[in-house]
Amino acid sequence: MTNKELADLLIPDVDSNIDYYEKLYKPRNVEGIVTRFAPSPTGFVHMGSLLASFIENKAAKDTNGVFYLRIEDTDQKREVENGVQGIIDDLNYFNIDIDEGVVSETEEKGEYGPYTQSKRKNIYRTYAKHLIEEGLAYPCFCSPEEIEETRMIQEKRKVRIGYYGRFAKCRRLTNDEIKEMVEAGKPYIIRFKSHGDYDTKIKINDLVKGTLEFPENDMDIVIIKSDGLPTYHFAHAIDDHLMRTTHVIRGDEWVSSLPLHVQLFETLGFEPPKYAHLSPIMKEEDGKKRKLSKRKDPEAAVSYYNELGIPIEAVKLYLMTVANSNFEEWYLKNPDGKLEDFKFDFKKISSSGALFDVEKLFNISKNYISRLSKDEVYDSLVKWTATFDKEFNEILLNNEEYAKRVFNIEREQAKPRKDYVYYSDIKNQIWYMFEEYFTKFEKNYEWQKITDITEIKNILTTYVDEYLDVNDDKDTWFNKVKQLADKFGYASDMKAYKENPDAYKGNVSDIATIIRVALTTKSQTPDLYEIINILGIDRVKTRINIIK
Ligand code: GLU
Repeated sequence: MTNKELADLLIPDVDSNIDYYEKLYKPRNVEGIVTRFAPSPTGFVHMGSLLASFIENKAAKDTNGVFYLRIEDTDQKREVENGVQGIIDDLNYFNIDIDEGVVSETEEKGEYGPYTQSKRKNIYRTYAKHLIEEGLAYPCFCSPEEIEETRMIQEKRKVRIGYYGRFAKCRRLTNDEIKEMVEAGKPYIIRFKSHGDYDTKIKINDLVKGTLEFPENDMDIVIIKSDGLPTYHFAHAIDDHLMRTTHVIRGDEWVSSLPLHVQLFETLGFEPPKYAHLSPIMKEEDGKKRKLSKRKDPEAAVSYYNELGIPIEAVKLYLMTVANSNFEEWYLKNPDGKLEDFKFDFKKISSSGALFDVEKLFNISKNYISRLSKDEVYDSLVKWTATFDKEFNEILLNNEEYAKRVFNIEREQAKPRKDYVYYSDIKNQIWYMFEEYFTKFEKNYEWQKITDITEIKNILTTYVDEYLDVNDDKDTWFNKVKQLADKFGYASDMKAYKENPDAYKGNVSDIATIIRVALTTKSQTPDLYEIINILGIDRVKTRINIIK
């Protein structure tokens, strides 16, 4: 029986015309990096995948290349419901745009598809059939029990575990023996026939880790499983070749498979891509570094950032600091710089795993929000509250102009106030400006030096009756507060007060504080003059009247 006849017997459902696919998927006419994000459809994108997709997208964008999304669903045991949509939603949420690939559970775009591996079964089988014809792949009839038995023998003899050399039993079957077993109905899988020699060393360059040395691969790995679908290794070679990927950027759990992958590419007659393996993100805890863990660290989940309401741009700026060690310095020099202006560099990726520091992220977020215009804060907050705080959302929508004035306190100036770390922080900081909350929330007045409520009421009533005029400019307003202070025996002149504190009941800032606390309940707030103006005369009066 010839190899050709054998191939027809083993894979009868397709022919072995690989030229058809080589012609169908033409070499791309792009100069830049062609790369991809290739998750299994397990849904939830954690920080590691977000960082990887961010880097892949950036590398492609910076070079006018192509970034595509491929869904690797050949391990059907691992699938979760809505897994694909979850990935697409997360990428969309972070504005990580794809040029090609899977765009929804049912749609794809681009000329190199299908981009979902389960839809590419015929392609993999065509190449597997071709390898069988060439004598470069063969069926394996070993049962799981036999494989386990071999493993035990290998352990006992302290030799490498795996299907290779003399342990590769089915490799030695003749075509006629195979035919007999197939006709007898024995189940089989397809293995790659490796021609590697474990004693030969090879060098492979990795864009992050540098030149790596490995023994050549000599394992006859499975390429087509019993369900007819390919293994990761085989699909990687076929897909990244046919989709004309130039750079494979992926997690470094795949580094040890590099000799196999390079061998697969070469055996199939494909040019191997460039590889960049990303180390896992690390976290420092008790002075020690460990991997950021999906299980233990809430900040490893992408949803954590959405729920807190960290602006997407701030998350991306932070991802860039994790991705490239020189970004932080660049950003310090260019605080208004855009990510697009910074060029990503493979050489600046940490090869030992970058440290994830949530405080740094918060800091970036705080600075970022402080530089937004009032309209931008308003729009982003409306968007965020639509999902996470419906009540606040309604208040914002019903009071657009008013809310914008509130967000503009000490904003849109050279040194804007930095008090919001994320969107979920805004209500906590400024709730008292919204009448609905001021009426509803329990009020805990933070009186400071002046605590006598009769004195407080006297001062406040006099303020309202004799001094308050919301048309005053800031200087006039403050002069009136000073006059009020003098009237009640509090020093209006700080210098005089410092020289002789015992001559006064206190000073003008104690007076400002009781106005502040009466209007907001808080002893620390943004600019009081602006607060009074935005609240307006009626609210100010009501708030002062209710003090008991
Ligand atoms: N599906 C593989 C994974 O999730 C992708 C690795 C790759 O990017 O090639 O690990």
